[in-house]
Amino acid sequence: MASSSRASSPFPSLVVSAALGLAGAAPAQEATRLADAYVEAVTKLNEEHRRKPRGNEEELAKRLPRKAARSLERLLELDEAGELEAALRRCSTAALDLALVGDFDALRLRLAELAGEEGAPLDVALARPRFLLIGQNGLSVAYLTHFAEVLDAILDAYDEVFGFEEWSKVPGKKLRVRVHLEERITSPPHFAPQFPFHSEIDFPVVDPDELRSPTSDGKFLFYGLCHELGHVIAMWGSPSHDTDHHAWAHYTGVTITEHLTGSRSFAELGEPLRDAQYGRTLAKEREAHRTTEPSLDDRDGVLATLIALHDAVGAKAVGTALNHLDREEEHRRVNGVRYHSFEKLAEGLLATLRSPKARRAVSELLP
Ligand SMILES: [Zn+2]
Repeated sequence: MASSSRASSPFPSLVVSAALGLAGAAPAQEATRLADAYVEAVTKLNEEHRRKPRGNEEELAKRLPRKAARSLERLLELDEAGELEAALRRCSTAALDLALVGDFDALRLRLAELAGEEGAPLDVALARPRFLLIGQNGLSVAYLTHFAEVLDAILDAYDEVFGFEEWSKVPGKKLRVRVHLEERITSPPHFAPQFPFHSEIDFPVVDPDELRSPTSDGKFLFYGLCHELGHVIAMWGSPSHDTDHHAWAHYTGVTITEHLTGSRSFAELGEPLRDAQYGRTLAKEREAHRTTEPSLDDRDGVLATLIALHDAVGAKAVGTALNHLDREEEHRRVNGVRYHSFEKLAEGLLATLRSPKARRAVSELLP
């Protein structure tokens, strides 16, 4: 009896809301309707781009229909109503999905008005050509501006050292970094592969003023950011059987940390970023693995293989080989994320390297 009355209960309420809709939209429904129009337009653009990437995210955002932009304008003008806050929040998420920071900021302002002074801190966002930063738990735009300088320097270093061409799993889309302020870091930075339209790194910090590393309790956040970017560029094996992709990310992480720490142009920005002084360098790993036999059997073997490859053919050759594999779609994609194999890496290297000596080294290290 009880279950049958529960089962039938949704129908009368549906009829009631439909009747309200006919009688003229109440403000709450208007908010939902306007948010739907904006969110659906953003999702449609992103879906189309994922299926057939064309241009970068800024070009994509310009194709947002005027109707969707007008819906957002009207939503921002609505007075407080029950569903307004939820509608604004959904639009904020959608705005970030297309890196529309102007829309996001306008929504943030309206949410701040609704919440008043007692409200919890709202997220902030900052876009740069290659990435979008989202700051949470009270981080400021000034914090993100400094963080952006560091990340731009890291990406420049990746360009100089490896020359990777595409950062996001969805070509053209900006990489996202979700930076959140915590009292203590309980789970380290990680690559979050689950988002459908972009690649994202989850990045906890403890210092509200600016990025410092290592933290007072010994977390290497600067190296950690360089490391996670290694995962963004390439995972190895498959989700169920990883061929020590942490060795790969460790290799790219220490390589970039070392490169930046040695660079004069990074000296000022890098002053609070001292991971290299605590041994997060390629030189330290080369020394530690002097007698490790290169293999693909375990983490140490993979790391020794990567260091030997680095020394024999150079990091640029490794980057060129992965770019080649990306262009040829010679990788597995799981939820859009690129998974490579060392077998394919060898093929990519042999397809792009000319020098007989370098080719011989590849054949020996990656038989
Ligand atoms: Zn890792």
